[in-house]
Amino acid sequence: VSAAAVAPDPLRVELVAAANWVADYLERLPHGPVTRPLPEEHRRRLAAAALPETGAPLSALRAFVQNDIAPWPCGNGHPAFFAWITSPPAPVGIIAELLATAINANCGAGEHALVDLERGVVATLARLAGMAPGSGGVLASGGSAANLLCLAAARTWAIDRYGLGGRHPADYDAVHTRLVAYQSAQAHLCIGKATALMGIPSARLRAIPCGPGGGMDPAALRRAIRADLRLGLRPFVVVSTLGTTATGAIDPIDAVAEICREHDLWHHGDGAYGGLGRLVEELAPHYAGMARLDSLVVDPHKALCVPIDCAAALVTDPRRLRAAFGAQAAYLDNGAADWPWLSDYTFELTRPGGRALKLWATLHTLGRTGIVELLTRYQRLAALLRARVAEHPDLVLVPSGPHPVVCFRFRGADDAAHYELVRRLQREGRVYLASVDLDSGVALRACICNFRTDESDVEALVDEVARCGRAVCTDEEKAHA
Ligand SMILES: *Cc1c(COP(=O)(O)O)cnc(C)c1O
Repeated sequence: VSAAAVAPDPLRVELVAAANWVADYLERLPHGPVTRPLPEEHRRRLAAAALPETGAPLSALRAFVQNDIAPWPCGNGHPAFFAWITSPPAPVGIIAELLATAINANCGAGEHALVDLERGVVATLARLAGMAPGSGGVLASGGSAANLLCLAAARTWAIDRYGLGGRHPADYDAVHTRLVAYQSAQAHLCIGKATALMGIPSARLRAIPCGPGGGMDPAALRRAIRADLRLGLRPFVVVSTLGTTATGAIDPIDAVAEICREHDLWHHGDGAYGGLGRLVEELAPHYAGMARLDSLVVDPHKALCVPIDCAAALVTDPRRLRAAFGAQAAYLDNGAADWPWLSDYTFELTRPGGRALKLWATLHTLGRTGIVELLTRYQRLAALLRARVAEHPDLVLVPSGPHPVVCFRFRGADDAAHYELVRRLQREGRVYLASVDLDSGVALRACICNFRTDESDVEALVDEVARCGRAVCTDEEKAHA
């Protein structure tokens, strides 16, 4: 037996050790604090990123992660994490990411099984969301990027439609300088970033007021469009938010679709968070009109817990994405006519295969039933939280939902006390939630988007908020005495 045959392969040894470390880490995570703030000095050391003169062995990485990264969790892996919309990683997604990295396919250029898998899994997502048959698209890094892709497709469509294809620069400019986009006042900030990047000034992105349920007021939308048409402007897209970030509200999809049909506008759905809501029985009535959307964003790295990053830009007529992003170059051969490269549907050329594989793996591990059960579970836990808050003498519900976002206040505490309450809870590390600045004042905001969260975490959240709220109020009284 040669020495080479018995010497352990360092890559194999380290892969196995890393896999064991991952399993231990995930097992221990729920038993530690939700978060732990990084010491200032450690932050400085990491940010200085000194490069050693000589290279380190493979095993140095695991030691580094164990000692310098992992002790300070950012929270979203923990079952008692209720802040924002960041979920823990689905276990199969972690494995998929590793496997895809080993394959390291470029899913932007050329052909590969993972490219076809991306085509398929994106179509599956569009079907799950209730889009029209034939819908497809591409995966992107997040909702921010995916919204930009869809809005760019809408812009190219509008130039085609209203500007004679924009083949002559004057035709292009004549339309582009008049384009107006619409969103609700509760839309995500990334819509404004996307339109700004597209050269549409913020003054031509209208924020339509919301009705009492938190969704866009369709009558106000219609009035705004008519007013812009009278000014000679060119309305081209309305963004409906399906699950607002602040309160989990849903814009009236079907009513907005009708207005878009009347005025020949592109209707885009920002469902980064709530794009799959129609699968949940109690949310389904809000989702009439999904098949009328022209495009939709869904972030599987939110509600489905696919590891970051994974978002989908879905377009009813995928050729619209290609019209916006298809490009030729002398140094590239853009594939067979029937199988255009995915880089023709987005601004990325080199693209990871891990997004498709971890999404496919997560969907296939859950199955359709598992997906519905997961989303329904969030609703059930949010209902429990609403009930506990409603019956608690110190807590007051603030209108939110129908997605599983629960907003509430501590009775008698002012805005500053709410910020202090949140800071204290975050510092103590037993449960973690965020605040939200609503028209009615600052509220506590718990978002349930975590397959690890169960009833006991919800009960702990209520107990901790009540305890911490009383402590903050007592301290304030003492300060004023
Ligand atoms: C989270 C979110 C986004 C942004 O998505 P990222 O993945 O964070 O880039 C956009 N819109 C809505 C409604 C969101 O909830």
